[in-house]
Amino acid sequence: MALTGLDIYKLLPKTNCGDCGSPTCLAFAMKLAAKQVSLDQCPHVSEEAQAEMGSASQPPIRLVTIGTGQAEIELGNETVLFRHEETFYHGTGLAVRLRENNPEAEKRLELINKLHFTRVGEDIFVNLLALEEESGDPEKYGVFAAHYGSRTHLALILISRSPACLKAALEKMGDRRPLIHAAVDDNIDEVAGLAKEYSCPLVVRGKGVEETAKLAERAKELGVEDLILDTTPDNIRDGLADQVIIRRQALNKQFRPLGYPTIAFTDPGADKMTQALEASVLIAKYSGIVVTDLLEHEYILPLLTTRQNIYTDPQKPIQVEPKLYEVGTPDRSSPLIVTTNFSLTYFTVEGEVEASRIPAYLLIVDTEGTSVLTAWAADKFNAETIARSEERRVGKECRSRWSPYH
Ligand code: SF4
Repeated sequence: MALTGLDIYKLLPKTNCGDCGSPTCLAFAMKLAAKQVSLDQCPHVSEEAQAEMGSASQPPIRLVTIGTGQAEIELGNETVLFRHEETFYHGTGLAVRLRENNPEAEKRLELINKLHFTRVGEDIFVNLLALEEESGDPEKYGVFAAHYGSRTHLALILISRSPACLKAALEKMGDRRPLIHAAVDDNIDEVAGLAKEYSCPLVVRGKGVEETAKLAERAKELGVEDLILDTTPDNIRDGLADQVIIRRQALNKQFRPLGYPTIAFTDPGADKMTQALEASVLIAKYSGIVVTDLLEHEYILPLLTTRQNIYTDPQKPIQVEPKLYEVGTPDRSSPLIVTTNFSLTYFTVEGEVEASRIPAYLLIVDTEGTSVLTAWAADKFNAETIARSEERRVGKECRSRWSPYH
């Protein structure tokens, strides 16, 4: 049976040392009960307490980290089936594939490295480069992976079924901590050995959910903890069904062999629009990583936007700082435009004002990140709040200099 936060708190050292990243043991216990952290983040917990908490204290979907430094991406640790129940925590990693024999690999890499955008004030970008082996030649693949891996800031996935090719590439990766794809039934001992030797996360790839779960158990027995699941579906319908089954089994049944993030591929034989639709389905439910051959802005930007929308906490709208903004170089005769601090509203209005080429003041009222109509309906955007905002912001910001409001 799941332990409550107070049950867990009783088993912790209660020293409030903060080494786990939480300010107090109670705060850590509450997060542990909500499956947002794992017990191993407290280095001081006794062996007896560990045994008592056991699997009840483990997040139902393991948090797996790929890459290091700025390229690092975290996956998993999700706690709900539906975003409105709480939130989704770790956005789907979008990966673009680079094949070893592609004569245009250089050009593709240049385009992949530029798949970085700003939307509603946030940076959104592709996270991973998937380097796929095709030659069967360890030396050749090692050179390929080292060459292209060194020319990108993205986290890396090494794709090969050959342990020798994977080893040749891993030897050249330094501390990049790439994701290894994949351990299958006939190579799992060797490939799991590589994951252990190089401390890298590992994909286990079976045919269907059942076989993949068995491979995950086997990899765990071999000492690999950071796993990603690939069920090798034949089509997007099966792929979607697999994703939902895995998420349900992990969350509702606490079935440990499926308690890992997943990876899925768009169909490289499909047309681009179909691939984009497949990727959007997989982002919505519940793929940890989606690997695609797409790299055109018109497909990638909508996918990144979809991810941004799904992985935004529904209880915390994206906000901008409420204050007086200047668009262009406004003066005494410039208009004052008033709106709310919901990011999407702010950037839409700001974009329109900028496009008009008429310099203006933009007074952004604090409506706790709600849009104009929602804020108005909740009485957060009315004459009084606007006047208060003007007094507070304009008074504070412009008192010491010339202002059109004096
Ligand atoms: S590291 Fe352990 S002992 Fe220290 S505050 Fe966190 S839970 Fe408490």
